[in-house]
Amino acid sequence: MKFDFKEEDLIIKPYKTESAVYVRKQKGRYQRIRQFTGLAFVLLFVLVPWLNFQGHQAILLDIGKQQFHIFSQTFFPQDFTLLAGALIVSCYLLFFVTTWLGRIWCGYTCPQTVWTFAYIWVEEWLEGSRNQRIKRDKQPITLDTLARKSAKHLIWGLMAFLTATTFISYFLPARALYLDLLQWQWDSLTTLWVLFFAVCTYGNAGWLREKMCIYMCPYSRFQSAMFDKNTLLVAYNKLRGENRGARKRKDDPKALGLGDCVDCNLCVEVCPVGIDIRNGLQYECINCGACVDACDQTMSKFNYAKGLISYTSENALLGKKTKLFRAKIIGYGILSILAMLFMVYTIEARVPIEFSVLRDRGALFQLDFKDNVTNSYLLKITNKSQIDRKFNISVLNNNVSLSVDNNIFIKGGEIVSVPVHLTMTSDAIKERVSEVSLQVSVSDMPEVKRVTVTKFFAN
Ligand code: SF4
Ligand code: SF4
Repeated sequence: MKFDFKEEDLIIKPYKTESAVYVRKQKGRYQRIRQFTGLAFVLLFVLVPWLNFQGHQAILLDIGKQQFHIFSQTFFPQDFTLLAGALIVSCYLLFFVTTWLGRIWCGYTCPQTVWTFAYIWVEEWLEGSRNQRIKRDKQPITLDTLARKSAKHLIWGLMAFLTATTFISYFLPARALYLDLLQWQWDSLTTLWVLFFAVCTYGNAGWLREKMCIYMCPYSRFQSAMFDKNTLLVAYNKLRGENRGARKRKDDPKALGLGDCVDCNLCVEVCPVGIDIRNGLQYECINCGACVDACDQTMSKFNYAKGLISYTSENALLGKKTKLFRAKIIGYGILSILAMLFMVYTIEARVPIEFSVLRDRGALFQLDFKDNVTNSYLLKITNKSQIDRKFNISVLNNNVSLSVDNNIFIKGGEIVSVPVHLTMTSDAIKERVSEVSLQVSVSDMPEVKRVTVTKFFAN
């Protein structure tokens, strides 16, 4: 037997070879919704670092100082359990929305999609429509093409730079960051991080695009595990559409043995991930609805009913009823609400004081001429709120006195070290080592307090 193999057939390639995806511009109801959600998302992203709350940047994740300011709250690395809680809430919400509406997050709000569409908009503006871009790329490069492509990359670069600077302004004070930029005074670390995120944005939205969703995004890999027969997905109605085929507007499709798909290929040309939805549900589909708008437009031209491609469920396609309330959705909904309530309770119940007690390592104790014993400590008090406050230090044991001004002023989000001395009179000493309780409370809110127990050595 003779096998006819070419050498390249024997090489296993990790990825299939793909040609560039030229996305056709599409108008329609879902594109308007996406433009609106995308714009709202971008505005939120850009404006949030400029929001001030009680004289501070409302959201500032200060990694250098290890303080994370979110409106009235300041979080410290010790509060990282709250971050785990926030991730759990996000996961349950994502599961809930995905089970109900499929990959709606990917199609309408994912930053990768929003930025990719913005980059495509610039591309279309400078290089023309899909067909013009394909033609241009096939032809030898001209001065006009060079100028247009250079302008495109320049604008993409600028968009990437502004995106990266905005992103960094969540980690460094925004006003100072832009002021320093205008005066060319960024330090090398800031410059490096901004350039890093700018390159990531430019690469992801300008070049990688759908490959990011197909090969790198973990969500696209596991989202189908959340789908069921009632999940809303973008799907082609095969029963109605086949046999597909070109025809004139006046033709009777039944007489020609055709279904409603006129094989115009628009659903493929507008698809940002370059798939043909007529081949069935595919994990690459980001549920953006561009093919729905494109197909509805064609259906209208031919005077056919809209919805050959639509947001629908597997059950609806089989002529069954789509069930909204089902065990999985109710379960994820309840878990999301419980997790959110728990987070709100944890944040509300959070005492805005953190304090630790360190013993003086130099001497275990000191005796005065009356044999009274003194122990020395260092208190580290953290004001975990964004408000400047006075704190009261006290000792809860009757037989111990405190030698420190017990009204300490601490600015919002700051940590101060306070040396304190505790003294026990000689007649009160009963044991060699006893326990003393130190309390720090907010001066004008005595009910907000923290107590720490430490050792007191008498000999
Ligand atoms: S198949 Fe349709 S919904 Fe899915 S990504 Fe492509 S255009 Fe968007
Ligand atoms: S847009 Fe509609 S009619 Fe045109 S090829 Fe796609 S499914 Fe068929």
